[in-house]
Amino acid sequence: MADRDGSIWCDGALISWREAKTHVLTHALHYGSAVLEGERVYEGRVFRLAAHSARLINSARLLDYELPWTREEIDAATRAVVKANDLTSGYVRPIAWRGSEVMGVSAIGTTVHLAIAPWAQEGRLSVQVKPGGIRVTMAKYRRPAPEVAPGEAKAAGLYIICGIEKDRALKAGFDDALMLDWKGRLAESTGANIFLAIGGKLVTPKVENFLDGITRRAVIGMAERRGWTVEERAVAPQELDDASEVFLCGTAAEIVPVGAVDARHYQIGPMTRTLMADYAELVRQPDCEGFGESGHFAQLARAKAA
Ligand code: PMP
Repeated sequence: MADRDGSIWCDGALISWREAKTHVLTHALHYGSAVLEGERVYEGRVFRLAAHSARLINSARLLDYELPWTREEIDAATRAVVKANDLTSGYVRPIAWRGSEVMGVSAIGTTVHLAIAPWAQEGRLSVQVKPGGIRVTMAKYRRPAPEVAPGEAKAAGLYIICGIEKDRALKAGFDDALMLDWKGRLAESTGANIFLAIGGKLVTPKVENFLDGITRRAVIGMAERRGWTVEERAVAPQELDDASEVFLCGTAAEIVPVGAVDARHYQIGPMTRTLMADYAELVRQPDCEGFGESGHFAQLARAKAA
């Protein structure tokens, strides 16, 4: 990834791709203090840009630091760098980190940096759709308890166990791994959230100390718009036995049907297919910034009924 043409926005300026470097004694490299986002460009626009920039700022706050840029400034920088690279379809990686001024566990005294790197990307990233759906295995590591780590932050350090589990899954011939939370309930995959179709309803784990996906919220919004019931609640892994459909969703993965979780097999069913088509349409619409924000469609429905 280091040897490419193009430009990267770095600490307020557009610089050449190959010049975007950092020192080996950077705090984030040693102690995992970077926070990041993953965004997609469709038709030249970043889908749910404001939500991603806001989550980046919030992730830094969960790690006890402030980004020296506002949400609006990060949005503007992102649009500028996407335009500079002339992207119509792509992926964007914003990353903020603590610098190299002092070396030690404490980051006090380091400066905060921000880089935004976009590149051309067609289709999905990280998990590819397969004709019968992807094959997933159960992970050994769990998402941390709230007393252990700020699990809702999209922080580099929190990806250590995701990386180990993803590699373990790939080496064993699977496409991804499903992680439980600290109480043994379903949480998320190593880079996406999960939905199950059970008895005609969509069921997804309530976010408790894992990543509250922006795609997850869009899926809830799309399902509510279709009048479907969505349950956000604790989901026991045994409920995978009751599901007629299972899918993962995330910015990079989009909506990916799951064909198997270890020995359990699933069809790519009508709910998954409908949401995949709806999502492909949604991401290409110009005005969907607030879409899928908590209760958006439920509120509209209630207002209509009142
Ligand atoms: N969980 C994890 C661990 C992830 O890395 C991602 C991808 N960012 C998601 C869930 C989905 O989040 P989003 O829909 O915001 O991309």
